[in-house]
Amino acid sequence: MIVGAGEAGMAAAIALREGGWRGIVVLVGNETMLPYERPPLSKALLIDEVNPGPKLIVTSERLVELGIDYLQGSEVVSIDRVANTVTLSSGSRIAYHRLLLATGARPRKLRVPIAEGAKVATLRTFEDATRIRQVIGQGCEVVVIGGGFIGLEVAASAVSKGALVTVLEAGSRLLTRSVPASMAELIRAKHESSGVRIETGAMVERIVISDGRSNVATAGGRSHLADLVIVGIGATPNVELAQTAGLVVDDGIILNEMLATSDPHVFAAGDCCSFPHRLYKKRIRLEAWRNAQRQGAAAAANMLGENRPYEDIPWFWSDQYDETLQIVGLCPEGEVPIIRDLGTSGRVLFYLAADGRLEAACGFGSLGSVAREIRFAEIMISRRLSPRAEALADPAINMKALLV
Ligand code: FAD
Ligand code: NAP
Repeated sequence: MIVGAGEAGMAAAIALREGGWRGIVVLVGNETMLPYERPPLSKALLIDEVNPGPKLIVTSERLVELGIDYLQGSEVVSIDRVANTVTLSSGSRIAYHRLLLATGARPRKLRVPIAEGAKVATLRTFEDATRIRQVIGQGCEVVVIGGGFIGLEVAASAVSKGALVTVLEAGSRLLTRSVPASMAELIRAKHESSGVRIETGAMVERIVISDGRSNVATAGGRSHLADLVIVGIGATPNVELAQTAGLVVDDGIILNEMLATSDPHVFAAGDCCSFPHRLYKKRIRLEAWRNAQRQGAAAAANMLGENRPYEDIPWFWSDQYDETLQIVGLCPEGEVPIIRDLGTSGRVLFYLAADGRLEAACGFGSLGSVAREIRFAEIMISRRLSPRAEALADPAINMKALLV
């Protein structure tokens, strides 16, 4: 039984079949469509001239072929861990042998007074993206609250559609969550040269209606008129189901290395969970597409008894304009990076651990160049290699040569 038909839940369902499970697989999803990918929602879905529609992870034919019972538009409302059953919103109960929670996350709420009728959106689902797509266009004024991934990707998409975009970030810089400060500066410069206005240290106090339009008021008496306000101030993991079922929760459903919860019959994967990572020797919760996929598949294998610790190296990307940002590993805060300047193709930052091992890399620039450098960095991190700092800093030295 899998709760949540997003990236992690769907990957788990497929992995159960690939792992040889011949019994029943029930996938319960509370959205009213086939499982789809979220990354295009802030990019192609907002930009493309013709609405590309959702990028489906799987077709209904493939679900039938795989023998997955997909309960579309159904919500699991409770779990009985003694009887090993879940109850759906319809009232029906379904028994499970092993249970996977892949409930994802939801947009964090902006806790300020918002006038009735103000045009305020968040972005998590295909429906959210469709609504935003209908408004952004030539001359439309968009205020984005939050200078994180959603905020900046939407800003890039909206400005490329001819909208006038202002980003209001509460922190002292953009992308505080996982991007090094100097890289965030490069990204800010790219946005500003593309016409996006960015204000950092901007604390939103309220959203009112002025002359029929939404008006975002920030501390210090400034105000920003908008045809649409888009809020991207972080995500909250969907843990309530687990919590009510008595599972241990703390910024995510708490897992062991094998991705099992505090109940050995219940596993979790994706944005909703927090797990210990051997390499980083700490507990992490990732909100990234590749992690959701790989963790879903790894949890499924462990549900079938493989019992293997999950040790995937964190990796994610963010496409903005014609550039890509890619990060592999966890960039340590406040450390001085080694800089590899790729000229017009971009820049890569590397972080070495105290023992000389490469522990993280972050690149921004053209997809081909950045993806290649980050791929080699990932191999080095997973092989625990200690490349020389001077070699990393020298773009004339092929990264492949450093793998030896
Ligand atoms: P989700 O995809 O959120 O799926 C969880 C599903 O479970 C949802 O459908 C939810 O409605 C359902 N659910 C929850 N509770 C229940 C219940 N009780 N019963 C039934 N169903 C339930 N990552 C990147 O690395 N790169 C990107 O460029 C990128 N772009 C993104 C763009 C956007 C707009 C968004 C929102 C995210 C993006 N991400 C990106 C992040 C990535 O999409 C997520 O990390 C990934 O979708 C997480 O997968 P998940 O399966 O854990 O959760
Ligand atoms: P995010 O990346 O955490 O960024 C939120 C930003 O908003 C942070 O910089 C945060 O600052 C700031 N903020 C918080 N409260 C604010 C306020 N009141 N006013 C102004 N700014 C405020 O989250 P997100 O961009 O909303 O993304 C939501 C989810 O979608 C995440 O899971 C994310 O990973 C996912 N996503 C990922 C990608 C990608 O990986 N390419 C793309 C889109 C979406 P503080 O950090 O100081 O709180």
